[in-house]
Amino acid sequence: STQVQLVSRPQGWPTQENFRTVQVTLDELAPGEVRVRNSYLSVDPYMRGRMSNAKSYVAPFGLEETMTGGAVGVVTESHDESLPVGTLVLHQLGWRDMAQAPASQFRAVPEIPGVEPSVYLGILGMTGLTAYVGLTTIAPVAEGDTVFVSGAAGAVGTAVGQIARLLGASRVIGSAGSAEKIALLTEKYGFDAALNYKDAPVREQLAELAPEGIDVFFDNVGGDHLEAALDVFNDGGRGALCGAISTYNSTETPSGPDNMVNMIKRSLRLRGFTVGHHLDQSAEFQERMAQWFSAGKITYDETVVEGIENSVDAFLDMMRGANTGKMVVRIPQG
Ligand code: NDP
Repeated sequence: STQVQLVSRPQGWPTQENFRTVQVTLDELAPGEVRVRNSYLSVDPYMRGRMSNAKSYVAPFGLEETMTGGAVGVVTESHDESLPVGTLVLHQLGWRDMAQAPASQFRAVPEIPGVEPSVYLGILGMTGLTAYVGLTTIAPVAEGDTVFVSGAAGAVGTAVGQIARLLGASRVIGSAGSAEKIALLTEKYGFDAALNYKDAPVREQLAELAPEGIDVFFDNVGGDHLEAALDVFNDGGRGALCGAISTYNSTETPSGPDNMVNMIKRSLRLRGFTVGHHLDQSAEFQERMAQWFSAGKITYDETVVEGIENSVDAFLDMMRGANTGKMVVRIPQG
């Protein structure tokens, strides 16, 4: 089995030298185990946090251990009758072409005709659930709200824009890092307005696009985006602090918003969250999302990188913004 391991902890931006690709001979299957040929691996921003030793909500990746993370594949050998050969499964065993473990570490997921199983890593999976939790529990959207989402053209962001609308938002504004992404947001994803944060200060651009303020802010970026949102929040505004990707590879101390006092003046409620603490909403999410999805109310993009040996590049490209929608690695099926 080909596997990608972390061998040293990056300072600032990770490099290829922080990783190695190894060949591992798999043991014979033990009773209760299954062997899975992966079709897609997920690369996600939270993985950057786990490459470091800093205290966080998940333990750091072990050095000289195979990277873990979301993956989907098909059972090719089974010593557990609950997961027969041919079953499509989702698991967390990460950056390897073959995964082998007790059946309890895999969850069967339905095959959807005409849809690649990578959707279980994105719009129907963790990033979709993150958007849903943020807009229902953390910063609930109400009918007629104006919603602003940063990182809007990514996996979480594209889900947020659409779910916000389905939950009753009347105006949805997004920010992203290229002209192509801005066009996609308004043309394909139904955003009312979008700004390119590389063109001019977010503060200035957002004030122009939200003349009547915002009620909900879904933040994937932090820094200047959070500051800009704090400027334009209406009274009683709600913020879901989901990510701060602008700081993940930074070696400098990030500058804080200079307008936190607006939280008091406008009775704002900002709440950080991690989706792992809200898995009790999974069933509800899966049910509603499946309905929206099959009714054609949800669209999505994926950026697909071919080959497990390119997993590190896929991760770094995602952190740099080369992806639109969910970034995944496809394992060619030999
Ligand atoms: P994305 O698909 O959004 O990919 C990351 C994107 O971040 C890039 O495409 C890039 O787009 C953008 N980006 C990179 N650097 C910067 C920067 N300096 N300023 C602004 N944008 C930047 O990833 P995900 O959808 O998987 O994750 C989005 C966010 O949500 C991350 O912050 C992640 O940590 C967080 N998250 C949090 C979870 C939770 O439980 N709290 C769960 C899942 C994700 P662009 O071209 O626009 O710059």
